[in-house]
Amino acid sequence: MKETILLKLGEIVLKGANRRSFEEKLMHNARRRLKPFGKFNVYTRQSTVYVEPLDETCDMDGAYAAMEHLFGVVGLARSYPCEKTVEAMRDAAQTYLADKLNAAKSFKVESKRSDKTFPMTSIQLSQTVGGDLQDAFPHLKVDVHHPEVTVYLEVRDFAAYVHADPDPGAGGLPVGIGGRAVCLLSGGIDSPVAAYMMTKRGLGLEMVHFFSYPYTSEAAKEKVFDLTRKLVPWCGRLTVHVVPFTKIQEEMRRVVPEEYFTLVMRRFMMRIAEAVAERTGCGALITGESLGQVASQTMQAMACTGAVCTLPVFRPLVGMDKEEIVRVARKIDTFETSILPYEDCCTVFTPKHPRTRPQLDEVVAAEAALDIDALVQEAVDGIERVYFTPEK
Ligand code: ATP
Ligand code: MG
Repeated sequence: MKETILLKLGEIVLKGANRRSFEEKLMHNARRRLKPFGKFNVYTRQSTVYVEPLDETCDMDGAYAAMEHLFGVVGLARSYPCEKTVEAMRDAAQTYLADKLNAAKSFKVESKRSDKTFPMTSIQLSQTVGGDLQDAFPHLKVDVHHPEVTVYLEVRDFAAYVHADPDPGAGGLPVGIGGRAVCLLSGGIDSPVAAYMMTKRGLGLEMVHFFSYPYTSEAAKEKVFDLTRKLVPWCGRLTVHVVPFTKIQEEMRRVVPEEYFTLVMRRFMMRIAEAVAERTGCGALITGESLGQVASQTMQAMACTGAVCTLPVFRPLVGMDKEEIVRVARKIDTFETSILPYEDCCTVFTPKHPRTRPQLDEVVAAEAALDIDALVQEAVDGIERVYFTPEK
């Protein structure tokens, strides 16, 4: 039998009648993510998804790392399947977990029987195998409260599985189970974190990036692509819709009073993002805004930017401090890329004294001289799509 990855499912087991579709979605996502690492059989039984390599050429390290990024999984472990006998489980623990047991000072054995026909109770099984392991590794002490290593013996339907402590999974809900949304992705720290957070809640994403060449450089665009690559292990396949934004910004500079500049620009972004949502079957917009972080992120400013769209706008960072956001950015490894010093289209024409408590009618008046529909249409027509897929 071959080493198998066990995925323990989280919240999805609570979802009653929907449970089956949650499991199907999670397995579908798992199969896709596993593709670069060889051929695997993926199936589910009793709140556990099994990831079984079909031949010797499978890259188990790569597969395991991919599964650590899979939303919907609360814990995962590499396990060794064996026959459902005490001897087989003991031998498997002795050999498969030898390195871990040699390195530890204390251990315990924990057994689970989902096959209730197994002739011993869980406690009897743990005691028997625990005693044998102590004989085989005389330096080990049994510590039932704080063991350095726990040896798990799971007696399941088709086999017994032996493994050490599981690693924490990515948590959340399987990507796509909640539908799809458009995420406005800048090159900053915040929006990649927002993308990660909403993906964790089960949304599939389309990325939209506004690009103002030559005010923003090719390098700034590459940076957004690098951030997207960092998000792919969490999100799966991603499309970045690169929106030409130069003309809108130049037109704005001609006619919009400077103090309303950022707000009018953000309203254009939301309109265009909503048009992308319509074309791609998305039901919400996502931004990386955080209350009070900058002038355009006050409550009144958000009311003005949100007023142009009918879809709900998700702002998962709205109540987070910068340090909290940075912590997540480091965890998902986008931080170092985000802080590279390239300009964003938002920073190119920043007003000296932006309005922090704008009234909607003032903002509408400030943009009235623009042919909004035509500018939006032209930008949408000029979108360039760039595709990113999980790879080794
Ligand atoms: P970030 O760190 O995500 O850039 P920020 O604090 O710099 O955020 P703003 O520049 O005001 O904030 O932008 C607020 C939100 O608007 C961003 O989080 C992002 O969702 C969106 N946004 C800003 N600039 C762009 C852009 N060039 N392309 C796509 N979305 C953008
Ligand atoms: Mg920004």
